[in-house]
Amino acid sequence: PSSIPPVLAAATRIAREFDYPASEVRRGVKEFINQMHEGLSKEGATLNQIPSYITAVPDGSEKGLYLAVDLGGTNSRVCSIELHGDSTFALTQNKVAIPRELMVCTSSKLFIFIAGQIEAFLEQHHNEHFEAHVLKRRLAGTREEYKDEEVFDLGFTFSFPVNQVGINRGTLIRWTKGFSIPDAVGKDVCELLQTAIDDLDLPVRVSALVNDTVGTLMARSYTAPGKTETLLGAIFGTGTNGAYVEKLSNITKIADLTDTRYAIPTGKMVINTEWGSFDNHLNVLPTTTFDRELDVETVNPGIQMFEKRVSGMFLGEILRRSILSLFCDPTAKLFQSAGGSIAPDSALYKLWGIDTSFLSLVEADVTPDLRVIADSLRKDFNIDGASAIDCQSVKVLVHAIGKRAARLSAVPVGAILLESGKLETEDVVDIGVDGSLVEYYPNFQGYIREALRDIPEIGEAGEKKVQIGIAKDGSGVGAALSALVARKEE
Ligand code: ADP
Repeated sequence: PSSIPPVLAAATRIAREFDYPASEVRRGVKEFINQMHEGLSKEGATLNQIPSYITAVPDGSEKGLYLAVDLGGTNSRVCSIELHGDSTFALTQNKVAIPRELMVCTSSKLFIFIAGQIEAFLEQHHNEHFEAHVLKRRLAGTREEYKDEEVFDLGFTFSFPVNQVGINRGTLIRWTKGFSIPDAVGKDVCELLQTAIDDLDLPVRVSALVNDTVGTLMARSYTAPGKTETLLGAIFGTGTNGAYVEKLSNITKIADLTDTRYAIPTGKMVINTEWGSFDNHLNVLPTTTFDRELDVETVNPGIQMFEKRVSGMFLGEILRRSILSLFCDPTAKLFQSAGGSIAPDSALYKLWGIDTSFLSLVEADVTPDLRVIADSLRKDFNIDGASAIDCQSVKVLVHAIGKRAARLSAVPVGAILLESGKLETEDVVDIGVDGSLVEYYPNFQGYIREALRDIPEIGEAGEKKVQIGIAKDGSGVGAALSALVARKEE
């Protein structure tokens, strides 16, 4: 193949390091199932398998007005959700980017910031209520208890690993996604939020602590077509994680399964897997030099190893490192054919300098000479004169990294499908997904499905039964539904 340009040949060599063949998918699924069982049987396992204390998933008939707060990876949102009881809802929201400095500060600073967002939201969107209740009290200087009907129930979506001990109680296990606020670790995050809310004297009760994946599952189950109960809610955004419906009797680490806290005797409970930490010991996860070098630069080396190969926070950086490696290959002469160069201040030289949205842009460019890629390289990375072959080489790298991420995503999805036994008994198994990666990366779902077919116990017949839907506004409406279920369970 002397006809293959050297740069493309070199890119293809690097891309091959990201291959994740069918045999490895199968090995991954087996290991994931082992780690699922281990996590259900004891504390401190690799997969945390955190009980949510939510024992019912919605069927679309739920009604009422609820508040939700979502502390995600990148943004913080406050919303109110009107559930209409017919699988539809109306959602009003304020969204702000979380200032970087609040990701590395003290817990009180972060939670005061959030309570302030709730107050601003109520004043803006529920002004009548705000004036009649909150402002009146402030003017009168009273601080007696709010009446029950004046209080909003709030579902708090907190997308970090929490040791949940009740439907609205849970202590933070560790930060992920670049957050590092040491004094919050080990504290009850609902209490931290409720304290900040009470300091502002707002009529808001934190009723449910909801992982974003649990919210995605609840939202999808409320909105999904038909009466099928959704099995799994999965996030592929800044981070990656999933929550699924497990048989209560399998959750052997909960000592007393007859505890009155499970008022609804459904025999089921939603489990938050925290699959971002799947295989931290690297028994089965594929590992390239780029993965190793990236890990060292993170705030939590050796932890969240699955997430670091799959989610939006990291794929851009894996790509940056592989482009630099290609650039350093003297045979490749990347970006040099047209006398081009990388400016010294290019984001390509900066740690975390490539956003994962760039991967979607590259994968989506089907123009004959890959103009969109070249334009972005010039505009966003100060790289002039990238030839069509250069762009194609970058695309080869992107494709390899994106496809590996999607095929890896099929490991937990496949494992949970198999463990549920639903493929044997049901015609449709519903899965809700959310996150920019699964929503915008071209064919991400398609690559997941390909890998699912590679699992012999699922195969083509099983994969066909899987119905995947984007659960829009999952963390908002899902949190509202969790607050509703929480009040029912009380
Ligand atoms: P979060 O997970 O923080 O709630 P998102 O689901 O929007 O929010 O995920 C944000 C992550 O997705 C970031 O890491 C960002 O780099 C990445 N991202 C943003 N836009 C895109 C896109 N078009 N394609 C792929 N990834 C994207």
